[in-house]
Amino acid sequence: IAVSSTDLNSEVERVLSLIQYQINRNQIRIIADLDPKLPTMTANGPQIQQVLTNLLVNARDALDSLNDEEKVIHVRTHVREKDGKRWAIISVEDNGCGIEEKDLQKIFTPFFTSKDATKGTGLGLSVSLGIAQGHNGTIEVKSTPGQGSTFSLVLPETEE
Ligand code: ADP
Ligand code: MG
Repeated sequence: IAVSSTDLNSEVERVLSLIQYQINRNQIRIIADLDPKLPTMTANGPQIQQVLTNLLVNARDALDSLNDEEKVIHVRTHVREKDGKRWAIISVEDNGCGIEEKDLQKIFTPFFTSKDATKGTGLGLSVSLGIAQGHNGTIEVKSTPGQGSTFSLVLPETEE
């Protein structure tokens, strides 16, 4: 993959400004909490943007079903120390519909979707996981039906 020195916080901010219109239209509040100590990494910036866009669009869709509650998406970046390594974490948390236990195993499978054909192709998460793995990282998910979901892009720090 084509990689260069990438400031992940800037990638997050770029994606947030690009989808601001859709977020406003859906009356969603975005709270961004970006860690300035996040390491600059060797990465494919456009691919990272694609993953973040996919996660944010899914969060927006998950919030569609809420009626009275406030719709909130939290975007956070932070550094994790694990296995003698540093990892950059970018997480997208929504307070939407959540994911049933039985579906959690399937959501990264190409073409798995719970949306109707005009809204979902079921490719977003499988493509996103492929991009994460192409950077030697992964995507983690935590979800509680009826409460919401958190998807985290986890990327190992790279040598500069
Ligand atoms: P699509 O969005 O086109 O359906 P994705 O691969 O992006 O395909 O997601 C697959 C499925 O995973 C979705 O249809 C939905 O059922 C579930 N999903 C993904 N993100 C979320 C989320 N934030 N909240 C609830 N369900 C989600
Ligand atoms: Mg999607």
